[in-house]
Amino acid sequence: MTDKYDVLVIGTGPGGYVAAIRAAQHGLRTAVIERDRLGGICLNWGCIPTKALLHGADVAHTLSNLRPLGFTATGMEFDMAQLVEFSRGVSGRLSDGIGYLMKKNGIDVIAGTARLTGKGVVGVTAGEDASSFTEYRANHIILATGARPRSVPGVTPDGDRVWTYFDALVPQELPKSLLVIGSGAIGVEFASLYNDLGSEVTLVEMAPQIMPVEDAEVAGHVRRQFEKRGITIHTGATVSALILGADSATVTVKSADGSVEDHVVERVLVAAGIQGNVEDLGLEDLGIEVDRGFVTTDQWCRTTAFGVYAIGDVAGAPCLAHKASHEGVLCVDKLAGVEHVTPLDKDYVPGCTYARPQVASLGLTEDQARKTGRSLKIGQFDLQASGKALAIGEADGFVKTIFDADSGELLGAHMVGPDVTEQIQGFGIARSLEATGDDLAEVIFAHPTLSEAMHESVLSALGRPINM
Ligand SMILES: Cc1cc2nc3c(=O)[nH]c(=O)nc-3n(C[C@H](O)[C@H](O)[C@H](O)COP(=O)(O)OP(=O)(O)OC[C@H]3O[C@@H](n4cnc5c(N)ncnc54)[C@H](O)[C@@H]3O)c2cc1C
Repeated sequence: MTDKYDVLVIGTGPGGYVAAIRAAQHGLRTAVIERDRLGGICLNWGCIPTKALLHGADVAHTLSNLRPLGFTATGMEFDMAQLVEFSRGVSGRLSDGIGYLMKKNGIDVIAGTARLTGKGVVGVTAGEDASSFTEYRANHIILATGARPRSVPGVTPDGDRVWTYFDALVPQELPKSLLVIGSGAIGVEFASLYNDLGSEVTLVEMAPQIMPVEDAEVAGHVRRQFEKRGITIHTGATVSALILGADSATVTVKSADGSVEDHVVERVLVAAGIQGNVEDLGLEDLGIEVDRGFVTTDQWCRTTAFGVYAIGDVAGAPCLAHKASHEGVLCVDKLAGVEHVTPLDKDYVPGCTYARPQVASLGLTEDQARKTGRSLKIGQFDLQASGKALAIGEADGFVKTIFDADSGELLGAHMVGPDVTEQIQGFGIARSLEATGDDLAEVIFAHPTLSEAMHESVLSALGRPINM
C-alpha cells in the first residue's frame, strides 16, 4: 500500500481529467489513473480526430463547388493517409496538453489499469506485468472509465473489412464503398465524411428514422440531403447476414417489410452505439450496481457504494464529452462540500452532429413536447430566407423552437444547417437563465449572421415573424 489521496480518478477522458482539475482547485490531493493515452476516447478516438477528418471532408466539398464563385480547380489530388496524419497530429497534441494540465495542477498521473480492491482502495497494474501491482488509498474514488463500441450480433469487427470507429479513423486508403450500421451521431458523421471524400456510402438504421434521438423533421431533412448526395439509406432495417470476401463484404439488409437486399462493399463500419467499460473494475465486490451496462448513479454521481462515484459515458446517456466534464465538476463540487451545486438536467444537454448538414439540438423534440399535453407555441425559420446563409451558399436547413404557450418556457430547440453546432449554445444560455420566448424576442441579433435564424424562429413561435 502506498500513497493516500483525497481523490483518485480512474480514466482521463473529458470526465476524468476535468474532475481531477476541479478537485485540485479545491486543494484536494488528487491522482488520475490511465491505462492508455491521456484524454480518453474524446481526444484520441472520438470528438477531436473525427472533427479533423470532417474538416478535410468540408474542404473536399468546397473544392467540388467552386464554379459558382468563378474558380476552376484542376489537377487536385487527395491522399487519405495525409488527412489521417493531420487528424492523428491534432489528437496527439491535445493528449500532450492534458499531461501539461495535470502537471500544472499538481495532479499525480499513474499509468496502468485500475481496479477497486477494497473500500477506498484501488489496485493498479502497470502494463502486462502482474508483479508491478500497487495499491493506492483514497477518500473518494471517481470512475470515469468511458465506453467502447457496442457489438452487433453476427457482425464481428476484424479491423480489416469490418471496422469500428477506431479503424474508421485511421484508414491508409479511401474505401471505394462503405456500409455503416447505425445512424446515431457517430454513424452519420462517418457516412457524411466518407461520402464527401468520395466513397459510395450505404447507411442502415434499425429505427424508423435516421438519427433516432433527433426531432423527426430534422432527421427527415438530413435524410433528404444525404440521399441527394447519393447516400443509400435503409431505415427500419437490420443486417441479417454478413459474408466476408478477400477484400470485400456482402451484407444482407432486411427491411421492416421483410424484403432483403445484398450489398457488396469494401468496408463495413459498426456504429450501433456504445457500452460502458464496467468490466474488471471490482464493482460487484463493493456492491456497485450496474444497469444494462452502465453504472447506476444518483443526481450527484454517487454510486451505490459509499465514496465511489461514476461520471461520463460509464454512467450512461447522454454519452457526450461535455456531459462527462459537467458531471466531473458537479460531482467534485458536491464531494468537496460546495453549498450550491445544481444537478444536471440530462434533457437539456446539447447534442451536436458535425455532418453535412450539421445538426444541433437541446430539450424536447416536437413529438416529445406534444406528448407532455402542454399547450405549445412552435416556430420555424427556413434558411432559404437567411441572407447570410444564401451569401455563403449554404441555405439548406432550418431552426425550430418549441415553447410552453402558457409560461413561455423554452422546451426545445432544433437546428439543422451550417455552423448550427456553434449556435446552439445561445439556446442553452437562454434556457439556463430561464429566458422566455418574449425575452428572446427582445434580443438584438447582429445582421447578417446565421444566428438571426434563431431569432426569427422565436418570432415565428410568437406569431410575429418578420423575414418570412
Ligand atoms: C467517433 C466518436 C466521435 C465522437 N464525437 C463526439 C463529439 O463530437 N462530441 C461529444 O460530445 N462527444 C463525442 N463522442 C463521445 C465522447 O467521446 C465521449 O462521450 C467522451 O469521450 C466520454 O468521456 P469519458 O471521460 O466518460 O470517457 P472516455 O473519454 O472514454 O475516457 C475513459 C478513459 O478511461 C480509461 N480507462 C478505462 N478503464 C480503465 C481502467 N480500468 N484503468 C485505467 N484507465 C481506464 C480509458 O483508457 C480512457 O482513456 C464521440 C465518440 C466517438 C467514438
